[in-house]
Amino acid sequence: MNKPIPFLELSQIPLDLKKSLKEKFSQMLDKGIFSGGEEVILFESKIKGFLNVPYAIPCSNGSDAIEIALRALNLRSGDEVIVPALTWVSTAEAVIMSGAKPIFVDTDQNGLMDMEKLDSSLSPKTKAIIPVHLYGRMVDMEKLIKWSTPKNLRIIEDAAQAFGAFQKGISAGNWGDIGCFSFYPTKNLGALGEAGALITNDENLHRKLIQLANHGQTTRDEHHDVGRNAKIDSIQAGFMNVKMDYFESWQQKRKLLASQYLENLKNVGDLLIPLDILEPNHNAHLFVIQTNRRNDLKIFLERKGIGTAIHYPTIIPKMLPYLDGKEYPCAEKLTKRILSLPLNPWMTEDDVLSISFEIKRFFENV
Ligand SMILES: *Cc1c(COP(=O)(O)O)cnc(C)c1O
Repeated sequence: MNKPIPFLELSQIPLDLKKSLKEKFSQMLDKGIFSGGEEVILFESKIKGFLNVPYAIPCSNGSDAIEIALRALNLRSGDEVIVPALTWVSTAEAVIMSGAKPIFVDTDQNGLMDMEKLDSSLSPKTKAIIPVHLYGRMVDMEKLIKWSTPKNLRIIEDAAQAFGAFQKGISAGNWGDIGCFSFYPTKNLGALGEAGALITNDENLHRKLIQLANHGQTTRDEHHDVGRNAKIDSIQAGFMNVKMDYFESWQQKRKLLASQYLENLKNVGDLLIPLDILEPNHNAHLFVIQTNRRNDLKIFLERKGIGTAIHYPTIIPKMLPYLDGKEYPCAEKLTKRILSLPLNPWMTEDDVLSISFEIKRFFENV
């Protein structure tokens, strides 16, 4: 058997990066600033510069970012927010935590919210919509804005998986009223723990978001809202400032590996492959293939030492806390067909070749 290829193994980050991270930790330990401070300010400016946005707020994690974004819209109980049926649970969880009600919409073939089905999720109570740029592939934002603007709906982008994706030169998260990012360790740009960020173009929303993420405080000891503590950990901001310098080269590596998958997995069995993954509006976060023989393929690859993952095996409205008794046939079908192949900057081109080789063998042999 060849050497095992894990789906993702974060201890494999390069030695020079490990060294820089240790140095950063050591410096921060000596300075003794563990909340706020210059690392947080620097991280904020790096996000603004990279995404080309006027306002950015580093925060505790992506889930809190979505919840705070929703709270900044002043939703009331009974208000409805449209979210896709297939996403990480946070998208719907945050809606409930904000006091509103998630209304699910089925997805298209790619797992993005199906724009053709949006009208059927609409009601007089609909106040906002959360497009999720699933797997790093952006929702068609122009089309969505065209649909939502006449209805006076607010847009919060769940760009947790889409840092580094740009549509028509505009970053994911920068199309809607507020954009939410996650720097969970497994994302393209990940912290050494939990972290996230909010972005907006709106000065008033910016002020409101800062307050909500810091106890509703306007200036020290003046509390104008019931907020919470969703500040980023300074140590994480420090680590992010180190890792951000590597981001673009990692993205290039992801795209290179993805292009090799595309070449090698053309016309194999009944496989559907993400043909648009090299485009700028996809950040190549996950390489998700589809096949009717998903479960068998997953087991076959596991036996060859190749790790894969399923994002996600259950749609949200079929989970106990979110049951709504409705059917989402396209999203549900995807949960049985999708398989995420290893795709990360620590892999080699040979890894992609051997994974592709085994997949071809699987389809040839039966
Ligand atoms: C990762 C993720 C989140 C949550 O981010 P955390 O930082 O883990 O809280 C939200 N939505 C989507 C689509 C995600 O992938």
